[in-house]
Amino acid sequence: MIIIIEKAEDMSRLADKAHKKNLTVGFIPTMGALHKGHIKLVKASKKQCDFTIVSIFVNPTQFNDKNDLQKYPRTLDKDIEMLFEPSTDIVFVPQEEEIYPYGVDFENDLDLGGKDLPLEGKFRPGHFKGVAQVVKRLLEIVKPTHLFMGLKDFQQVAVVQHIIDRYEIPTKLVPVSTMREKSGLAMSSRNARLSEEGKEKAATIYKVLSSIVRNYNKRPVNYLLDKGFQKLKETGFETEYLSVVDGHTLQEISDLNDTDYAVVCVATWLEGVRLIDNMIIKQP
Ligand code: AMP
Repeated sequence: MIIIIEKAEDMSRLADKAHKKNLTVGFIPTMGALHKGHIKLVKASKKQCDFTIVSIFVNPTQFNDKNDLQKYPRTLDKDIEMLFEPSTDIVFVPQEEEIYPYGVDFENDLDLGGKDLPLEGKFRPGHFKGVAQVVKRLLEIVKPTHLFMGLKDFQQVAVVQHIIDRYEIPTKLVPVSTMREKSGLAMSSRNARLSEEGKEKAATIYKVLSSIVRNYNKRPVNYLLDKGFQKLKETGFETEYLSVVDGHTLQEISDLNDTDYAVVCVATWLEGVRLIDNMIIKQP
């Protein structure tokens, strides 16, 4: 049985009950339009925690593009159906006023340690301020012992880990690897807006990333990135960035000997849809 909760107060009360019983509480924040990638996070929580809570909230403060917010798919009934099979305990579906009781505030001065500035930060200014704001607020309401987040959003994981450390939030962040289609395309709620042909083309992102991971010690990084950029262009993509970064700092690197943790990250547009993905090249 799934319990659906709309009020922040009710959510906190139930979380408190679980804490009193010393139960571990796993939490998966989402914006809905669920797919198997989200379900992978739910299953990871079910495996590790006594109690699993999923939130569905399309957070307006993380959309720097109003059009993107409007077009974001909303499929609540189907989402709840998808959460039955992995036996989610609670689905938290707050309205805006539950999350932002003092009104939606697009400005905040949370310290993100600069983790928000590279990569996405250059193309979606303010996005991670919104993400940090909503995640911090949700963590205050849900008070989970464990927070499950997808490595598909690599920079998001880094930003959230920073706020957990910085604001001494007693929650353990558990990163979960990316769930992909058979073609290699990373699952995303945004894929639903691609045509069938677009979905096939979008698998090129996976091919480009895999080729960089395969060849990083055979060719200079900049050569591989140029080649990847060209391949995406030929396929019809408009690429915002294709970069190799240090996994600790998220700063761009061109010599992989400079770090023990390297990740290749991409953001690119196809058919008016913005797609992001990444692959770990080497990990400590
Ligand atoms: P979203 O609803 O897109 O905000 O995503 C909610 C959570 O699901 C985030 O932690 C995402 O990183 C994660 N997620 C989204 N897509 C995938 C995927 N393909 N594989 C694993 N996790 C994912």
